[in-house]
Amino acid sequence: MKPILELKNISYSYHTPEGETQALSDITFSLAPGEFTAVVGPSGCGKSTLLSLIAGLMKPESGEILLNGEPLTENSSRIGYMLQHDHLFEWRTVYRNVVLGPEINGSLNEETRQKAEEMLKQYGLAQFASSKPSELSGGMRQRAALIRTLLLDPELLLLDEPFSALDYQTRLNVSDDIGQIIRDSGKTALLVTHDLSEAVSLADHIIILSERPARVSDIMPVTFSLENDTPLGRRNAPEFKNYFNRIWKELNHHE
Ligand code: ADP
Repeated sequence: MKPILELKNISYSYHTPEGETQALSDITFSLAPGEFTAVVGPSGCGKSTLLSLIAGLMKPESGEILLNGEPLTENSSRIGYMLQHDHLFEWRTVYRNVVLGPEINGSLNEETRQKAEEMLKQYGLAQFASSKPSELSGGMRQRAALIRTLLLDPELLLLDEPFSALDYQTRLNVSDDIGQIIRDSGKTALLVTHDLSEAVSLADHIIILSERPARVSDIMPVTFSLENDTPLGRRNAPEFKNYFNRIWKELNHHE
């Protein structure tokens, strides 16, 4: 299958008055349509930098990023971005937060309104449509943020530590829940996380990065022999610990 996203020999350095910080070195990988890929690596190795380049917010120093075989253009609407903080606007209702994207890009019409209502219903937020974000739990807020992103129908979803602001208990539930929604949507997703168990429970492939400057030290396929392959099912499966330990070893081997 043709990859949806290709990174070829990407390198990037930050230049500040204090000097140069090389963040990424010769990163090459590709994502197949519908695949869920997680990126793990030591803190400060360059994970967020990688996502910013893919989102088109910065340009690589060298190398090439292709989306559907074509060079990335700035602010591609084909890419959706979900961040650590949900960035819901408190002065807008949940519904008006969800339709913000189409409202901004001028595509808010009967069809997108209907789609927003359907998604709110599907993801259990219909009765909160007129509520303010502060009335929602952390998990519901992330669902609302995800609906806002999915409503723009992106081809590729970038998730930058989207659950790390939540407490541990909520985080487990929300990451499993959101992971399942993304899987069901069939979208291609790239998740940056420092939580290895989150990566193993959600991903088809895990890209393991080295210390800064990040290089790809391994791309690990993740398969579970489960009849019903859900994040929660994976967490309880015997293979889970093996994957966790393999990644842990790989990361510590480089430290
Ligand atoms: P991670 O997401 O893996 O924690 P980042 O991509 O945020 O890592 O950062 C990688 C490295 O680049 C770090 O050493 C960080 O200090 C540096 N860095 C990040 N953003 C900037 C910036 N705007 N200017 C200078 N250095 C930066």
